[in-house]
Amino acid sequence: MARVQLENVKKIYQGNVTAVHDFNLDIQDKEFVVFVGPSGCGKSTTLRMIAGLEDISEGTCKIDGEVVNDLQSKDRHISMVFQNYALYPHLTVFENMAFPLRLDKKIHYYPWTEEELRNIDNKIALLKQNETPKNKKKIAQLEQSKVDGRAVKGYSQDEIFQKVTEAAKVLGITQYLTRKPKALSGGQRQRVAIGRAMVKDCKVFLMDEPLSNLDAKLRNQMRSEIILLRKKINTTFVYVTHDQTEAMTLGDRIVVMRDGFIMQVGTPTQVFDMPDNLFVAQFIGAPMMNTFKTNLVNEGGKYHVEFFGAKIPVDGEKGEALKKKGIPSREILLGVRPEHINLSKDGGASSIPVTIEVNEMMGSEYHLHVRTEDETKIIVRIPTINLTQEERESMVNGNKVNLTFESKAMHFFDPISEINLLADGEPVASGK
Ligand code: ADP
Ligand code: MG
Repeated sequence: MARVQLENVKKIYQGNVTAVHDFNLDIQDKEFVVFVGPSGCGKSTTLRMIAGLEDISEGTCKIDGEVVNDLQSKDRHISMVFQNYALYPHLTVFENMAFPLRLDKKIHYYPWTEEELRNIDNKIALLKQNETPKNKKKIAQLEQSKVDGRAVKGYSQDEIFQKVTEAAKVLGITQYLTRKPKALSGGQRQRVAIGRAMVKDCKVFLMDEPLSNLDAKLRNQMRSEIILLRKKINTTFVYVTHDQTEAMTLGDRIVVMRDGFIMQVGTPTQVFDMPDNLFVAQFIGAPMMNTFKTNLVNEGGKYHVEFFGAKIPVDGEKGEALKKKGIPSREILLGVRPEHINLSKDGGASSIPVTIEVNEMMGSEYHLHVRTEDETKIIVRIPTINLTQEERESMVNGNKVNLTFESKAMHFFDPISEINLLADGEPVASGK
């Protein structure tokens, strides 16, 4: 069991820099939570407060229901993996991984073997033949130790060997155990750093941008390995990244942060489909969501948006939701993701004529940077697989095409507060 609760947690660094404002989060046992946000938004600070590497200025952090604010890092039962690996260059991979085990001098209890238990029973039987107060005390101690198990300070050599080789096997680095870190690639070093964190019996696994130093291909590979690793370790994870793809693919829940504030907490689907505010809408998803300052019009409960001279009806679920909330006609920021815009062949009434400025060929898709007649820029993602040769040839710089999108792809934000008009979440403090 390892639930992590952060209640009104605040971090004020020396010099009065407030890095984290009133952070509230309840992380469930075995949950994988990702803190994501741009550099400097307070992700590492929050993680380090959980780890005990940074004092908590205000509020409480609980692990397993116990307030840990004043507990030293080593007593919090956490394991941490850092971005820069922090391996000891003079130690072999084996010794690097064994390091936290050799350092651990706490008492560990192991089950007695049957033979050992028989020996204890024999001792008790002998002592019972002469039950002096002193012997009675000894008997009680022996009975207790039968329950507790064999007490050992630290870990035995055998055990260290077993734990390190097991973790190495899981991570596929067995063949490097005798090497020094300098003879390893970046990805292999990262595995060693993860392995070193894995060998410890921990309640919470903390990772701070563990993949940032790897090249793109390796990062993708390690990302899927972390998903597998998570199943094997089966503990509570808190993972920090600035990369929205990592957050989306790894997290059970994502905490989107900005300037020390939480902007939204939700599952990947929730933050993608129903971002609470414009910041989340534009941080999650790539390329970034397009926005247009325009009007939402309510005509007797039927909605449309005005869009470059066209009236685009808002029907279906989105229309119902607006109606249910009784949203009046008003100015809005309309948000539409690049992947939710389509090319229209016939250029019907609600399609928008645009000129292609740049076509970025990404392999499986085009990223079209287009411009409307009134100079508004829009980015569109077009999958290439079903395009005809003729269509491909039409998507060149300077050519005109028509765009359409449906109401289900629309997001409506208040232009000033930038809050999603349809989001149910509590309005969060703006980090601005
Ligand atoms: P992130 O991990 O999201 O990039 P950090 O948690 O490292 O952000 O930093 C959050 C803010 O706190 C930043 O403005 C940073 O400059 C500041 N900060 C971090 N560490 C210190 C420190 N030791 N002293 C003063 N300010 C710090
Ligand atoms: Mg950081």
